[in-house]
Amino acid sequence: PLKTAAGVKGGVERTFIAIKPDGVQRGMISEVIHRFERKGYKLVAIKAIVPPKALAEEHYGDLKARPFYPGLVSYMTSGKAPVIAMVWEGVDVIRQGRRIIGATNPLDAEPGSIRGDYTISVGRNAIHGSDSFESATIEIGLWFKPEEVYNWQFAHAEWIESKN
Ligand code: UDP
Ligand code: MG
Repeated sequence: PLKTAAGVKGGVERTFIAIKPDGVQRGMISEVIHRFERKGYKLVAIKAIVPPKALAEEHYGDLKARPFYPGLVSYMTSGKAPVIAMVWEGVDVIRQGRRIIGATNPLDAEPGSIRGDYTISVGRNAIHGSDSFESATIEIGLWFKPEEVYNWQFAHAEWIESKN
């Protein structure tokens, strides 16, 4: 069971996953959802949003000093397509989500990962995933109000998670 909004590190966790505007333009919404859903993860929040500049800046706040930061913020906020913001829940979903997404630079991303299969440019790598328990907690809080995140149980949970 979840003990905090973002879960228990190493156990059942929640992570923030976002399909960026290039991923939306390229018709990747269903593909991204499919990969998380088929693995056994649970979608507990989703919305389409053009992030206000302040939200994009805060989301990428740790990269403020980097030369690509202004371009990164304008890419996220252009409104040429929305961002599909999601929270996914499940065992080890933060780390596994990063594996499903693949390396930041698509040219280093393994075939079979989303970035590895669909993208070739670090500045257009289609998807975001929280990189740690701490950033997942912060990012979920930035993008979603508590009432936008749903607690619900799989009717078939015993077929996905075993205690033994
Ligand atoms: N980024 C970029 N150029 C770079 C590094 C990063 O445009 O040289 C962008 C890219 O969209 C990346 C995002 O900044 O996904 C955040 O960078 P981070 O290092 O956090 O990578 P991520 O966590 O997305 O894999
Ligand atoms: Mg990151």
